[in-house]
Amino acid sequence: MLYKEVVENIYKELKNFRGEGKVADYIPALSKVNPDSYAISVCDLEGGEFSIGDSTTKFSIQSISKVFSLAMAISHFEEKIWERVGREPSGTAFNSLIQLEQERGIPRNPFINAGALVVTDMITQVFPKPKQAILNFVREISSQDDIYYDKEVAQSELEHSHRNIALANFMKSFGNIKNDVDTIIDIYCNQCSISMNTAELARSFLFLANGGVNPLSGRRVTGHRSAKRMNALLLTCGLYNESGDFAYRVGLPGKSGVGGGVVAIIPGKLSIAVWSPELNQNGNSYRGIATLEKFTTDIGISVF
Ligand code: GLN
Repeated sequence: MLYKEVVENIYKELKNFRGEGKVADYIPALSKVNPDSYAISVCDLEGGEFSIGDSTTKFSIQSISKVFSLAMAISHFEEKIWERVGREPSGTAFNSLIQLEQERGIPRNPFINAGALVVTDMITQVFPKPKQAILNFVREISSQDDIYYDKEVAQSELEHSHRNIALANFMKSFGNIKNDVDTIIDIYCNQCSISMNTAELARSFLFLANGGVNPLSGRRVTGHRSAKRMNALLLTCGLYNESGDFAYRVGLPGKSGVGGGVVAIIPGKLSIAVWSPELNQNGNSYRGIATLEKFTTDIGISVF
């Protein structure tokens, strides 16, 4: 594979990287992870795959799951999604409450927690068994059956979900959450607890690099236009209040999670997933971003 050597060099160079970062502990079960874990996986549209490091170890994908739920919702609701959630960067932390009152319960975008809760609510309106539907969807797009919720992580987040419960209740007061708040929080915490490794994550993002079609199965996941729009949202909002800096340094649509995963795509070419659990103050992977920055610099390709 074309990028093998580049990735091997980056891995060697950053193997002993120590950020000032910290593993997430506001969800206590996440703090058990080995902070030194490091994995990189690249998949291209020709079926090439290359992984290095702890790429077979599954970890909590957390907010990366918001991409999967958005893809599910977009396929059903299309334009109607934007009646309930915006598509502008928030410039605030992923779990911030600050804009919601002024903007009357309509979250800025689907990747901050408030927006993702609305998307989960939308999925729950159309799938009779939403938890099973989310799992099926992720298994299908990653071509991997061996993907599960991590019950311990889900339970741990449920017990420490005060902010997300506040967000959901607040939006419900504006009529923007249709289901029971407890139901939505339960589905959301489970969705965030999904365990995957970097190879599975890289595969699961390939449809976004390929105009909405999963190249592994040949099946269409979203329309071409929806894939383009999701990529635009990933570029502008995928890393919360660090999205501008990520666009500047990496130059790709991407999504992070507090489990330390970060995935990015080069449209028409490939997807790349990195895992390194130490986070910066924005809740994004320190070494994950450094890895992606080096990757686009070294291969000389980004969307710009
Ligand atoms: N489940 C986490 C939360 O709601 C997801 C946050 C993240 O990964 N940025 O706080």
